[in-house]
Parts: sequence; C-alpha cells; structure tokens
Amino acid sequence: MFGLIRRLRRGPQPIDPALWRAACAALPWLRALDAERNAVLADLTARFLAGKTITPLGGLALDAGQRVQLAALCCLPLLHFGSEGLHGWSQLLVYPDAFRVNRSHVDAAGVLHQWDDELIGEAWEAGPLILSWADVQADIADPAAGFCVAVHEMAHKIDALDGALDGTPPLPRAWQREWARDFQQAYDALARDVDRGRRIAIDAYAAEAPEEFFAVASEYHFSDPRTLRRAMPKVAAHLEKFYGASPLG
Ligand SMILES: [Zn+2]
Repeated sequence: MFGLIRRLRRGPQPIDPALWRAACAALPWLRALDAERNAVLADLTARFLAGKTITPLGGLALDAGQRVQLAALCCLPLLHFGSEGLHGWSQLLVYPDAFRVNRSHVDAAGVLHQWDDELIGEAWEAGPLILSWADVQADIADPAAGFCVAVHEMAHKIDALDGALDGTPPLPRAWQREWARDFQQAYDALARDVDRGRRIAIDAYAAEAPEEFFAVASEYHFSDPRTLRRAMPKVAAHLEKFYGASPLG
C-alpha cells in the first residue's frame, strides 16, 4: 500500500532524453519553445504516456519515438492549462489515414437517417481521442498552414472538461463571461460572412458550431497566430492568455 502511494507521488517515468531530443528536432512547435516551456511540455508528455494507451489501427505501427511525438503534440494546448487537461479519458486511437465513421440520427418525424463521414480526427467527451497519422504528418510538414488536428481534438477535450461541449473551456467566472461574449460575436460575424459567400480569413469549418470555432481558432493559435490576430484580435488575445504565447509567434 505504502509502496503504491509512493510510486504515484513520484509522478510518471521521465521520457528517454534521446527520444525527447528527437521529438524536439522533428516538431517545429517544440523547437521553438524556450527551455522552461520545453521542460513543462516534457513533463506533460510523460504524464500523457503514463496515463493513456496509444493504439495504432488499420495496420499502422508506431514506434516509441512516434508515440512521444503524438503525446507531445496533444499536450501543446496544456502548456499553460496543466495536466488537469488530461482528465476524463484514456485512449488515443491512431488510424493510418482519414477514417470513415457511420453516423445515424432519428429526426423529429421518427425517420432514421444513416450516413458515413470521413474524418481526420475525432474526440468524444469521455471516450477516445482519434487521429489520422497521415494528417498529423501533414501538419508537421507544413506547420504554419493553420492546421493541427491534434490541437483541434485536444481543444474539444479541454472544452468538454466542464461537462458542456460549447466552445468555452473551464475558466474563472469573470473571464468566462468575457470569453463567451467575444467568441459569440466573432462566431456570429464569421457565420454571417460564410452565409454571404464572403472570403474569410480562417478555415470555414469554424462556422459549423461554436465548439468547432474554438477548436479551429486553437489550431490557428498554434499554427498561424498572425492570421488569427489580424482577423479576430479579441479571440486571439483570449487564446494567448489561455494557451500561453504561440510557439510560432
Ligand atoms: Zn472538431
């Protein structure tokens, strides 16, 4: 019993330094972190690897270094928020490429609708986080393009921590009110522009729902923060406070 408690208090096994160095060399976001934030991310990544099972599917194989990279990308949005952001779920499933899911919905008239969606990532409130390895690789190859599927899905996980997937993560009450107001305004303006067929500065998927707006804006914070600051300065300021300064500046 005592042994168990001591083990838990010691925290997770640190990551093999060679694997961490390789992850930092491979991932542009890690390369850009200062030493202090790099150490925080290494600790978060170790907690992720200790607490979660990473399962490659569909014939994909992932070596130890690739698992460290996946965990580190998922932990980027927790640099400021901390390891509480890892609570509530335990599985990361990784498909080789975009994956199909069966959807069904019974409408108000009682008619069952079924269809397939092709996804590159998905996050269920208490269930697994699912990523496409090919799309993670595409994000790494073009880190300033405004896309980062691992950050997108982790934003949903953080959003859901307060029990509501609504585009507002857990925040102190006063900040939450400002956040909800500023995000709603920016979301409404974006949805209006999409409806009118206007050119918009960020990926139009953000106009799907408030929670997608938060997740897509989070991708821009990490991948193309300048575009976000120009298009939506108030949203960008909230995300900078919530996630810390973007590693890509
Ligand atoms: Zn999403």
